Formats: sequence, C-alpha cells, structure tokens
Amino acid sequence: MFHDIYEGNIFRPPSEARSLILQATIGCSWNRCTFCTAFDGKKFRAKTLEDIIKDVDKVYPFYKDIRKIFLADANALCMETEDLASTLEYLYSRFKDLGRVTLYGGPIDIQRKSLDELKRLKEAGLQMIYMGLESGSAEVLKKVRKGATPDMMIEAGKKVKAAGIKFSVMVILGLGGQELSEVHARESAKVLSAMDPDYAAALTLLLEPGAEILKEIEEGKMTLISPEQSLKEIRTIIEGMDVTNCVFRSNHPSNYVPIKGNLPEDRAKMLSEIDEALRNSDFRPEGWRAL
Ligand code: SF4
Repeated sequence: MFHDIYEGNIFRPPSEARSLILQATIGCSWNRCTFCTAFDGKKFRAKTLEDIIKDVDKVYPFYKDIRKIFLADANALCMETEDLASTLEYLYSRFKDLGRVTLYGGPIDIQRKSLDELKRLKEAGLQMIYMGLESGSAEVLKKVRKGATPDMMIEAGKKVKAAGIKFSVMVILGLGGQELSEVHARESAKVLSAMDPDYAAALTLLLEPGAEILKEIEEGKMTLISPEQSLKEIRTIIEGMDVTNCVFRSNHPSNYVPIKGNLPEDRAKMLSEIDEALRNSDFRPEGWRAL
C-alpha cells in the first residue's frame, strides 16, 4: 500500500517490532563493513524534510494511535541536526499518543554531533540511539572495516548518555572467527563496561551471500565459530560486563541459545543457563538460525 514511501528492504532492531518504521535516510552512509550486505544496492541519501513530512501525512490515517516510531535506514542520525529535530517535532505534533522515537546511529555519526546537538535532539523527542559496536577488539574492528576504534565507540556511548538519550548497543558473536574469538569476547566485555549502556544485545554472525568476509573464509583466513564457541564468547561477555543497570538480550533468532536478563543482577542466572546449554549441547539447529 505504501510502495511509494518505502525503498528496498527495511531493517529495524528486534525491539522495534511493534513500531511504525519511517525511512528518514536511505541505505547506509558507511556501507563498508565486510560482514554486512543489508544495504547493498541502495545508494545512500537523506530524504528532505519536505519528503519526510509527505510520508508522515500519507501513513498518518492508518497509524493515528501509534506509540513508537523507528527512523530507518542504517544511520538516520547522520541527518542534519535541525532537519532531524524538525522531523521529530513534526512526528510528536502529528501522532498524539507517540511516546518514543528511536534510530540507528554509527560511532562516526555520534562523533560528528556536538553534545549540544544531541541534547537538542533529546529535547525534540529522540529517546534512544541504537549503535552497532560489533566488537570491542581493535583488531576485529579493523579487519571487518567498521571505521571506528574501541575508543571512538566508548566516547560515542558516553556522549549519547551525557545528552540524556538512552543508549542501546549490539555486538556480534563470532565476528573474529575462531582465530580472534577470545580477544573479541574479552575486549567486547571491556568496551561494554566502559560504555555502561542502558541496553546491550548480542547477535551471532550469520552471513548472507555477497558478504565480503565470505572470501576470507573461503581462503582459510577466518574460520567460523561453533555453537559451543559462541556460548563461550557470550559467557565471557556476561561475566566481564561491569555495568550499572543494563537490559541484556542474546535471544535473537541468529543465536544458538536464547539468553536474557538484567545486569548485574541476573549475571549468575544467565551464566548458569549458558553452562547448562553447554553441558547438554542444547543449541538451536544451524538451519533454524535467522537474521
Ligand atoms: S554494519 Fe551498519 S555501518 Fe556497517 S555497513 Fe552495515 S549498516 Fe552500515
């Protein structure tokens, strides 16, 4: 019905399943990560404020009572701050029950915004930024061409929180392969601790045809981790995360075992669930995993 307002495949965080998705930008302004094919074929552009308002007016009659909106695509935070603030203000003025608007932002996008700009977005109603940490290891980040260092990631997280915006961060189990499995998990726990995010999620690497990283695997430079190794990674991360109050989720369809809880209080429970799954080799079959 809305084929004229959506372009290509749409991706959103699992927790935005009930949200209205609106594309404020198209594609990913970075689009160089070797494991990601999500926005291949989409030439990046930011929609104009005028076009976004037209889209909102088109969907409004069908979603008058919506409470949550997610602004796609990969990094709507890269929009000009005033355009984004005006978008947020328009959304809240139109949808009277709207309680939250969220979006994805990369570390580079966050670095480019001043603290005052982020505060301006918070005032305009930006409730949460989702950021892909992917790994806390400098070596893994460099290998997968993420375009950011662990320090940049930590700075980004601290800045978002200082602006009063909720911060949700995601890591990818297995991203370093068997070769970098231990350092990937250990350093991810360290960076997550330094960020102290409100929400953290761990997905497990699942590659689509066309991902550049597949070439490395074919050439024997990287070996995919086993389900056991994925659980060992998540174990190291949960054990090492020194955080104040973090909702932790590793229950995405890509994961071999669903784990969830709040940190620090549910640490022992989650670790014992992991140990139980490891003892019983109780893993989601490979063919059942999905993105
Ligand atoms: S992982 Fe994120 S930043 Fe990297 S190419 Fe994909 S969408 Fe862009």
